[in-house]
Amino acid sequence: MKFSNYHTHCDYCDGKGTLRDYQDKASRQQIQSIGFSSHAPLPFPRPWSMKAEDLSRYIGEVADAKKSNPELEIYCGLEVDYIPGITGPSRFQSQLDYTIGSVHFVDAFPDGTPWEIDGTHTLFLDGLQQIFHNDIQAAITRYFEITRSMVEHDCPDVIGHLDKIKIQNRPGSLWDENDNWYRQEVIATLDAIARSGAIVEVNTRGLYQKKSSETYPGNWALQQILQKKIPITLSSDAHHPEQLTKNFSDTLSNLYTIGFRELMVISEGRWKSIPLATA
Ligand SMILES: [Zn+2]
Ligand SMILES: [Zn+2]
Repeated sequence: MKFSNYHTHCDYCDGKGTLRDYQDKASRQQIQSIGFSSHAPLPFPRPWSMKAEDLSRYIGEVADAKKSNPELEIYCGLEVDYIPGITGPSRFQSQLDYTIGSVHFVDAFPDGTPWEIDGTHTLFLDGLQQIFHNDIQAAITRYFEITRSMVEHDCPDVIGHLDKIKIQNRPGSLWDENDNWYRQEVIATLDAIARSGAIVEVNTRGLYQKKSSETYPGNWALQQILQKKIPITLSSDAHHPEQLTKNFSDTLSNLYTIGFRELMVISEGRWKSIPLATA
């Protein structure tokens, strides 16, 4: 099957390569459709997010790419942070073909600095101590609560890297992902997603970055997703054109083995289900 990927970061945020570089790579790889999903501007500075003043140029440049490259389906999205009461997908939705909603921040340090949960492990341990007094269960529970709040109050089209917080748990040092409380948090979040109709991305970035032995979400969560009939899409969270389809073939095989037979893609501007076939 031809690949599609709607989670890509170019040089408008923290990715390498221009929109053109990504299109060239996509054309060479006979990609069906590509979506650009730079990190949306934040109301406070972060080196990895798009600057607010660049947003209209980004949207315009993707629109120009669609016209100049009709043989490739191109879509304009953003990966939007959800921070309760501060920002979320609905701030940007009307200007875009789709949104990916992600939780990269969980509450804030006592000085008000939002706590970035997928930064360095040292930063993670700092926030865990200062905000949650080293109660890992409280911190992880809060992460999933915020994800559920996004799904219920500010739902994107695609839920970004659902369980990425596990990146901090290598090798199972902070909590046991088989523990009942952890699994209940994942299940409650998936139940909310199932009610919302949102799509869950199966994100391969942890695999090729060697930061996770599984996709986000991992195999156990994927089994629940299948049971709950939640639609999925395959993405690589590419930060370089070379990462456009990294680990797609093996992940498709894995999804097929788990029992998935359908995948969501955007076709002629609308999300639709296509048969999942191994490459
Ligand atoms: Zn992300
Ligand atoms: Zn991303």
